Amino acid sequence: MADKLKLLPFIIDGLKPDRPILVAGPCSAESEKQVMNTAKQLAASGIKIFRAGIWKPRTRPNTFEGVGSRGLIWLKKVKEQTGMLTTTEVANVKHVYEALKYGVDVLWLGARTTANPFAVQEIADTLKGMDIPVLVKNPVNPDLELWIGAMERLNKVGIKRIAAIHRGFSTYENSGFRNNPHWQIPIELKRRIPELPILTDPSHICGNREGLYEVSQEAMDLNFEGLFIESHENPDKALSDSHQQITPENLNKLLSRLVIRDPNIDNGILLTIGELRAKIDDLDDKIIDIFDKRMAIAEEIGQYKKIHNIAILQAKRWDSILSKRLKMGLRHGLSNEFIEKVFKAIHQESINHQNRIMNIDPGQNENN
Ligand code: PEP
Ligand code: MN
Repeated sequence: MADKLKLLPFIIDGLKPDRPILVAGPCSAESEKQVMNTAKQLAASGIKIFRAGIWKPRTRPNTFEGVGSRGLIWLKKVKEQTGMLTTTEVANVKHVYEALKYGVDVLWLGARTTANPFAVQEIADTLKGMDIPVLVKNPVNPDLELWIGAMERLNKVGIKRIAAIHRGFSTYENSGFRNNPHWQIPIELKRRIPELPILTDPSHICGNREGLYEVSQEAMDLNFEGLFIESHENPDKALSDSHQQITPENLNKLLSRLVIRDPNIDNGILLTIGELRAKIDDLDDKIIDIFDKRMAIAEEIGQYKKIHNIAILQAKRWDSILSKRLKMGLRHGLSNEFIEKVFKAIHQESINHQNRIMNIDPGQNENN
């Protein structure tokens, strides 16, 4: 499937995107005072786009679900008094009409909305023919196609200034993150649609304050275009996501520690990196060649198991392979997590090869 989106540069209201593009503000707009105090401090630190949730998609009922449309008046005031552009989450057609009525500059689709093609399509149909920038969070589940699909639905109705927000993916297991970043997913998005800006949302990835700097720096090192981050004048008192919000002052400190590296490589460095890349390419060729040889042996074993009617999976042998490789990996400075992933994938591929050998119906080819 082609991934071509017809995009325009992410310029909003004449505001040229800085690198990084910074969007900051509270998880939720709670009161006029909280919104204005937070916004004024953020504007003073150079933030150009202010975020605040007006309608909040909470996991459980009987929690704070946002102040609703009256909060949009406060966002209008933020724009008038600080000059910052404003953005809020829209999850249905009513939200879109309300946000547009009050002059919100940028709309954003939340993770739960991106996961629902019906909702995205209804929002897209409402925006048909309009020129408003839209930020699209990744869906809650790690599904790149669904993420791209939501952006395609918007693009098909003529929305051309789109940016993706990488906010991590839900997991059942405890991954140490509130939402696992699965960096390979936004990296693959960048590979497939290089002109699409990606903003990382460290707040919803971490779910706490401690990890924010590290995740933000990682996003910058991956050359993503910006950050979408929660900041509240008094985080401990926040009515939603209090553990992950930081004061504008601490956000300022975090931003000043960020190292923004050169996205382009100059010629001298390119030569050196070019040589190193050639070595990597060479090693990757060898790895593929070794995989090929390993699978050929697996197929020979498959033939043997077939003749002697032996089951493919020999749990003891697999257990011994994995524990030896884990130990060997550690000796070479390779993490258990990495070795486990690689060898599970190799083992599965080997099973697939044996399966093909063992379960080919000998009459099948003759009949075809
Ligand atoms: C938010 O940004 O406050 C929010 C609700 O995020 P998400 O859709 O990523 O859960
Ligand atoms: Mn939040």
